[in-house]
Amino acid sequence: MKLYLVPTPIGNLADITLRALEVLKTVDVILAEDTRTSAVLLKHYHIAKPLQRFHIHNEHRTWAVWIERLKKGETLALVSDAGTPGISDPGFLLVRECLRENIAVECLPGPTALVPALIKSGFPTDRFVFEGFLPHKKGRQTRLKQLAEEERTVVLYESPHRLVKLLEQCVEYMGADRLVSVSRELTKMFEETKTGALAEVLTYFQQKDVKGEIVVTLHGKEEQ
Ligand code: SAM
Repeated sequence: MKLYLVPTPIGNLADITLRALEVLKTVDVILAEDTRTSAVLLKHYHIAKPLQRFHIHNEHRTWAVWIERLKKGETLALVSDAGTPGISDPGFLLVRECLRENIAVECLPGPTALVPALIKSGFPTDRFVFEGFLPHKKGRQTRLKQLAEEERTVVLYESPHRLVKLLEQCVEYMGADRLVSVSRELTKMFEETKTGALAEVLTYFQQKDVKGEIVVTLHGKEEQ
């Protein structure tokens, strides 16, 4: 009776640990955010295991079913489409419920997009905050105001079609000179990181058709 959280590659299929493969081979069922996406990975590594859907829209409805199966002695692995489950992905509710029910939970270390983006920014890494995706509407301005005062490095996830708007708002709330680092398509063929003052990085992306997956890292507010 155990739940494993198994990180999977964020782009490069080779970025999976030996232990992750071993766990995926031995569990009874693999819970996946999107079974088609995970099927590609499993096929690549010749892993044939039952795959069941477990995604953000059904997490709150289905965790009870999986808790019962765990209690009956099954071992489950939870994977997301990319990176570490539970990080801007489903997982939290299931983990919390397992712990309430005294079911063992093991999270394997592995890929997650925020770490390489943070390191590649060259900004201080001794203290940082991960904010995931900012709310689209309600609460967005309040969050931006708070982040403008944040002295630690700030890491955000953003979709490509919203990047320019986010950078524009960061200029508005944090000033054109605040340093930012935008990492795109980490671990993939067209990986790129653009680092500089907000105004400069904004101009760069305004002139491009922004595609791919993106992490935005902001330098913390410097003490005056
Ligand atoms: N669980 C994942 C993790 O551990 O990083 C995050 C899942 S979240 C739904 C997807 C977001 O992660 C993307 O919108 C992007 O902000 C970021 N991301 C995932 N893969 C990435 C990559 N290869 N390069 C840059 N950002 C990535």
